[in-house]
Amino acid sequence: MAKKKRSSNYPEPQRLSYPKYEESLTWLSMLLDAYIIADKAIHASVAAELKKGRRLACAKGCSTCCSTHVTIPVYPLELAGIYWYAMEGLEGEAFHAIQGQLARFESGQGCPFLVNGGCGIHPMRPLACRHFNVFDTPCAEGEDPFYTRRRDVLSPDEKGKDKALMAMLPYHGITERAEKREMMKKGWIHTTVKNLQEIEWVKLAQRMGVR
Ligand code: SF4
Ligand code: SF4
Repeated sequence: MAKKKRSSNYPEPQRLSYPKYEESLTWLSMLLDAYIIADKAIHASVAAELKKGRRLACAKGCSTCCSTHVTIPVYPLELAGIYWYAMEGLEGEAFHAIQGQLARFESGQGCPFLVNGGCGIHPMRPLACRHFNVFDTPCAEGEDPFYTRRRDVLSPDEKGKDKALMAMLPYHGITERAEKREMMKKGWIHTTVKNLQEIEWVKLAQRMGVR
């Protein structure tokens, strides 16, 4: 998915912060906490590969994946983040470009948040996009390297991934540690996942209103 990082400069991820909104939107803090857990685990896995001499192919402006992949899983809390960011975080050209793409979006198309070769909702891109990292050679047009060269695709750190998903459980009213563990063991959160390409994005375009 469209990335901002480069293999030659791969800084530690920082937790994003929106104090003005996080004061009243507890779910937003929860989402940002989940994302930093995931980002740190991904950073460690990628850094380990870079140490072995591999090169991260994902870079700003590289976005074939975003325009061709048509099954991007997205969890309910992530959807809340995307809705919020589209309505509150987007400005100017990006706002209008994304609103137009959402209004015209039809199921099965590439991602409606891709703007000028970059992710228009980068701070709120879902875990699936964060986890998809490719080494050495950028994807060819239409290529899904998961099938063409699996060894070049980062294997997700399953523990880090689960920790991030576990941090999302309070959004569903699951707050007790033991219950969280039980639900993770059952894989319950995966029953809530949706396909980003099957969301009725036209409704979000309408909610974004006129600017
Ligand atoms: S290398 Fe592939 S997965 Fe990485 S940003 Fe480019 S198109 Fe996407
Ligand atoms: S949300 Fe869309 S544009 Fe952003 S990284 Fe994911 S697939 Fe690409």
